[in-house]
Amino acid sequence: MILLTDQHTVPRLICAQGLEDTAHWLRAAGYDVYIPYEKLSAKQLSDLAQSEQRVLILNQNVAKGVSPALKKVIPIKSPLVFEQIKQIGKHLKIDWLYKPFSRCMVCNTTMTMLNINQWVKLPDDIHNKTVTSHGCPSCKRIYWAGDEVNRMVDQLQSFKSLNW
Ligand SMILES: [Zn+2]
Repeated sequence: MILLTDQHTVPRLICAQGLEDTAHWLRAAGYDVYIPYEKLSAKQLSDLAQSEQRVLILNQNVAKGVSPALKKVIPIKSPLVFEQIKQIGKHLKIDWLYKPFSRCMVCNTTMTMLNINQWVKLPDDIHNKTVTSHGCPSCKRIYWAGDEVNRMVDQLQSFKSLNW
């Protein structure tokens, strides 16, 4: 097992193909997670992880081709999100409530609180109120304060409370 001992630095990650769901939850928790849009070879992923100083998370069946020089690699054995989270937790200390909604789940951009009126047409009865929510300045995804955000926080809490 590879243990990452540098606990003082918040890890930056790469999640390779097939691990997008878990990667999105890591972003929701506030981690900087790069997801390659195209299928990269183990060698390409290794080079990227090395040059960007990111922990490489990838499926075990492609982990064989990873550069032996790369120390921070987490091989994943399961297609299930909960299992993947468990496996990552064995290698890396993830705080699932690190900075929820500080980063866009879709595109990894740092988010801000914003006045939704400027982005979308709201029903007249609420249009004149200031409606603030978390929003992504890059892809314009809005994370609605209330039900949506609460549901996602519940999910993050369940990841945190599980006894790995
Ligand atoms: Zn975005």
